Amino acid sequence: MPGAGDRGAGLDLPPMSAEADRILEVAREAGRRAAALCRAVLAEAPAEPDAMAKLGKEPVTVADYGSQAVILDAVAAAFPDHAVISEEGAEHLRENVGEAGSDQIVRLVSEVLERPLTFEEVCEAIDHEGGAGSPWTWTIDPIDGTKGFLRRDQYAVAIGVLHEGVPAIGVLACPNLPVDLDRPDGPRGVLFWGGGGHPTHLEPLDGGAPREVRVSGETDPAKWRVLGSVESSHGDPKLVLEMMERAGVGGGFVRYDSQVKYGVVAAGGAEIYVRPRSRPDYRENVWDHAAGVVVCERAGGKVTDLDGRPLDFTRGKKLTDNRGVLATAGEHVHEKVLAFLAARDGN
Ligand code: AMP
Ligand code: MG
Repeated sequence: MPGAGDRGAGLDLPPMSAEADRILEVAREAGRRAAALCRAVLAEAPAEPDAMAKLGKEPVTVADYGSQAVILDAVAAAFPDHAVISEEGAEHLRENVGEAGSDQIVRLVSEVLERPLTFEEVCEAIDHEGGAGSPWTWTIDPIDGTKGFLRRDQYAVAIGVLHEGVPAIGVLACPNLPVDLDRPDGPRGVLFWGGGGHPTHLEPLDGGAPREVRVSGETDPAKWRVLGSVESSHGDPKLVLEMMERAGVGGGFVRYDSQVKYGVVAAGGAEIYVRPRSRPDYRENVWDHAAGVVVCERAGGKVTDLDGRPLDFTRGKKLTDNRGVLATAGEHVHEKVLAFLAARDGN
């Protein structure tokens, strides 16, 4: 199995094959359907965010489980031997869902998949793990940014597919992201997809042709825009602001929940997404990055950790050997941010 270090700029892998094309096709369709389910849950929920039914103590809703069921139903049908690493499991759903929640998830998943399923079948789809002998591994975050979802703000359905442990295909459904980032009041809902030989595309979720996107070519640091998490506890906003000041990065700091940040960099809406470690022992989940890495890199961007090391997805559920994440519009931006971080002690 090649190590992450063999990836280079990430633009030459994986094999551009008919199989990769089929995987991308299935992932795109699954992303569209999962996004439809998430939107349906929001449409049915009371307007106040605190009134949305959460399952147990976790900020997880029937939409998280419904979305995962929809995606893994498609994976199980099309590629039963592919491995799967996913965020949610049906055991927690069974314990916390209650009768109304169970009826709702069965109804919504059946609607979106256009065939009737039982609660047991929904749970089976959620827990689909696939095989261990395939070079392909699907990483699924059915709702990345659940807190953003609950606020009816930004969230993403993230489907990343690794080939021999290297992010190869990425689909990010961003149901609430403006189709045109310069027109926040315009239509919303996009699907970013790319990999397997295809550059990153942005496709409106509500119809319209996909168009290729490219990272920003801005060379003036004073105009570079920076993205970070809404949740301060997921990073280190103080360090980010210090970096901006000391490195003369002056285009503003915008906070979004979820991997939409990778999509925004890919589409040229920002030059830097920096995610310092929130605490020394925190390790990132693979499903929080695999799809985003492909979307960003196949648009010409660069992704490493804060030491400039490629993200290593060969370690299971976590990026155990990486420290934070840095995604930028390309080498020239990357170098400048890494130089600041290297010069600064203790981050
Ligand atoms: P974001 O909105 O970019 O902060 O990403 C949301 C993701 O952050 C969630 O899906 C969590 O997996 C992840 N997360 C949760 N706690 C932390 C933490 N302490 N540090 C970094 N990421 C976290
Ligand atoms: Mg997540």
